[in-house]
Amino acid sequence: AAEEGFDLEEVADDLAEAGHGPLPVLAVVGRPNVGKSTLVNRIIGRREAVVEDRPGVTRDRVTYEANWNGRRFKIVDTGGWEQDVLGIDASVAAQAEFAIEAADAVVFVVDSTVGATDTDEAVVRLLRRAGKPVVLAANKVDGPSGEADAAALWNLGLGEPFPVSSLHGRGTGDLLDEIIAVLPEAPEMTFGDVIGGPRRIALIGRPNVGKSSLLNKVANEDRVVVNEIAGTTRDPVDELITLGGITWKFIDTAGIRRRVHLTEGADYYASLRTAAALEKAEVAVILVDASETLAEQDTRIITMAVEAGRAVVIAYNKWDLLDEERRYYLEREIEKDLVQVQWAPRVNVSARTGRHMEKLVPAIETALAGWETRIPTGRLNAFLGELVAAHPHPIRGGKQPRILFGTQAGTKPPRFVLFASGFLEAGYRRFIERRLREEFGFAGTPIQVSVRVRE
Ligand code: GDP
Ligand code: GDP
Repeated sequence: AAEEGFDLEEVADDLAEAGHGPLPVLAVVGRPNVGKSTLVNRIIGRREAVVEDRPGVTRDRVTYEANWNGRRFKIVDTGGWEQDVLGIDASVAAQAEFAIEAADAVVFVVDSTVGATDTDEAVVRLLRRAGKPVVLAANKVDGPSGEADAAALWNLGLGEPFPVSSLHGRGTGDLLDEIIAVLPEAPEMTFGDVIGGPRRIALIGRPNVGKSSLLNKVANEDRVVVNEIAGTTRDPVDELITLGGITWKFIDTAGIRRRVHLTEGADYYASLRTAAALEKAEVAVILVDASETLAEQDTRIITMAVEAGRAVVIAYNKWDLLDEERRYYLEREIEKDLVQVQWAPRVNVSARTGRHMEKLVPAIETALAGWETRIPTGRLNAFLGELVAAHPHPIRGGKQPRILFGTQAGTKPPRFVLFASGFLEAGYRRFIERRLREEFGFAGTPIQVSVRVRE
């Protein structure tokens, strides 16, 4: 049967039938020992408890796939988050922040035998502000006598408390029904999404840097207008082009090839088109004319790509025109004007001679890899801990703000949230970002670092 080969469309149909796009994410938050891990194990149908009592050991964010009455979702157990290092309040707040950033819905677990504590109330305030759906699990209601304790949790103002016993399974069916009711449906997938789809490249740069020439050079006869492929976007302005054995989707190639000679408003339209291409792309290949002094428009386009959060490769074109002197000045210009994208892979090419065209694909792959990098929470915090110990924030007004905990809230591009005990100065934030890059790479991708201050 293996010899029969397979039909991509058939595979896509099967996958599409199997369902949907990225699954919705449910985060489980709550104080230590309320029973989060027990509940997660119950929901994913695993009997053996993962309840692991190893003080000081950081567990990474653990994600499982769950299924209730045919509805699939992801469940994130925040149970092991740095409780010992951080103290309970900071750890629980971090869970809530994560849920707010990254989850589609939240199960807030309270130990009904203890009742609501100040920490619980603080979490409620955070969750309320976020506006994500919250289901309140009143845990450890092992029998009917516990129902009254559960009812007392109406006071939290989160609506109906669902009495459950994560340990014995009592009430968990009703809880799951409610979870399914509040979780958003997974989005329907298109053909392209199902098979992963070709990576999307925006080839951008100011007029006359050589975009059209480069496109012609790389396309050769391989060019396929996307429109011709069944099921893909019927947008004839994009083209599929095979480079280095990989098929890529080049965005808005029609716009690149069309030689419009507008005098009025040309810059404005060029910049609109650049913004639109960036919107659809994952990676920007930014073309610069290396034979001329870098223009303000070059830096503006680079800034647009960075601000759009795209992976970035910078290609210095017309390398065939460079002499020693121009090369010298080019390097100085790059140091001076392009410091903000020092991390971007660089290729020196010539669309005319074909020089170094083969270096384009490895650069694009490097940038996409950086763009999709996820740093495990444990590793990130080990790194932050050492960094902060070696280079504490300067003391201001008798106080010394400390970074308590960090988590990567997302990828494409990597986004980090740091929880700190006070305001972090811009210089210190830049220092942290620089060290993050030194430690973890992130070649070819902007990274975003935001700071939440805990009083
Ligand atoms: P976490 O720190 O919130 O993840 O809590 P765990 O899942 O590790 O549970 C903490 C303790 O509470 C463990 O000893 C569990 O066996 C216990 N526990 C969890 N759920 C229940 C429950 O529904 N009833 C009872 N009686 N104990 C529970
Ligand atoms: P676009 O406006 O960015 O699409 O730029 P074009 O591809 O139309 O190129 C503008 C001009 O630069 C044309 O005259 C090209 O022949 C020339 N050009 C493009 N790439 C190179 C190159 O690598 N070397 C040299 N010498 N000229 C180039």
